[in-house]
Amino acid sequence: MTSSRKAVARNADAETHRRLTYFTDRRDLIVVNIRELVEIESPSDNKAAVDQLGDVVAVKFSALGGSVRFHEARDFGNHLQVDFPGRVPDKPVLLLGHYDTVYPLGTLASMPCRAMDGKLSGPGVLDMKSGIGIMLHAIAALKDWHGVLPRPVSVLLVSDEEVGSASSRAITESLAKKAAAVLVLEPSYGLDGRVKTARKGVGEYQVKITGKATHAGLDFKKGVNAILELARQIEKVSGFTDLKKGLTVNVGIVSGGSRTNVVPAEALAQVDVRIARTEDAAGIDKKMRGLRPFNRKCKIEVSGGVNRPPMERTAGVAMLYEIAVSIARDLGWSLGEAAVGGGSDGNFTAGLGIPTLDGLGGVGDGAHAVHEHILISELPRRAALLARLIERV
Ligand SMILES: [Zn+2]
Repeated sequence: MTSSRKAVARNADAETHRRLTYFTDRRDLIVVNIRELVEIESPSDNKAAVDQLGDVVAVKFSALGGSVRFHEARDFGNHLQVDFPGRVPDKPVLLLGHYDTVYPLGTLASMPCRAMDGKLSGPGVLDMKSGIGIMLHAIAALKDWHGVLPRPVSVLLVSDEEVGSASSRAITESLAKKAAAVLVLEPSYGLDGRVKTARKGVGEYQVKITGKATHAGLDFKKGVNAILELARQIEKVSGFTDLKKGLTVNVGIVSGGSRTNVVPAEALAQVDVRIARTEDAAGIDKKMRGLRPFNRKCKIEVSGGVNRPPMERTAGVAMLYEIAVSIARDLGWSLGEAAVGGGSDGNFTAGLGIPTLDGLGGVGDGAHAVHEHILISELPRRAALLARLIERV
């Protein structure tokens, strides 16, 4: 490196540090904002509650100069899109997330939002209300530093991510197609805050068996036992698991029968399928749909399908990760990456071939669990990382 390039690098370094200090000075304010979001409960299945949070978040983005637009949803909260113009008319960066949670209304009573021992805990604080707080503060900072955002930024917060994103998927995909890159503010991985560069694809299937009910004592031979047939099918579909390919099939819920003295006419299995490679989607789908009854007197119906493609570590994903690593290095920290089994809306955008980096949100533990929390000390550098990424991708 020449001495002038060294000087430039040193300046970039100093600049990055100055920005980290900016967020460190605002750390308590970031916590206040996240707490405000956590204290408005927003279970996916309660439209009124989620809409209430959506309105509050919209006001905050609007105060930063974003143009707010709600995509109406009938059965879920409305999905919130916010667009910020940039100094140069470039393709926008899409900041993606959700404001629904898995917690029913009233959870706050037993699981209040609390700051203690350097942690902020509460329902949805990690997944992913802290991610929304980080978005708000990164955008506010960029406006502070540049007057206008250095490039266009779109924000999409959906209301149904925790229940499969059926109502928001088309919106996510259409915004992603227009974007240069997608930054997903879902929780990071592990207490060292790794970002997610690969996620498995997810499928859900229902296997329904219909047999024939009779009295188990009086008419046993005329009955066709649907549970017995389902048991054989469970053995069969479980055998589709191929760990070397990262493909798993989990029969998670079974039901069937009515009384012990009745030969059961119906039985149902609900199956979770995970795939690491896009190319495996068609194969497992064909196998599931190709199930045939062992007992010809039974009827088998298979419904469902692969609803999230895998987020593979493509060249575009790796490129975003490399940029994030170099920003983190300037901040004096080494940013790791993780491949995880759970899906997010980043699977949709990566599935379209749009460079996507996930897990940029809060650092903590216990997503969807009673001990859900974030580490307060990590907030400034997550916000600094996001702000810098928006400037650089
Ligand atoms: Zn989430």
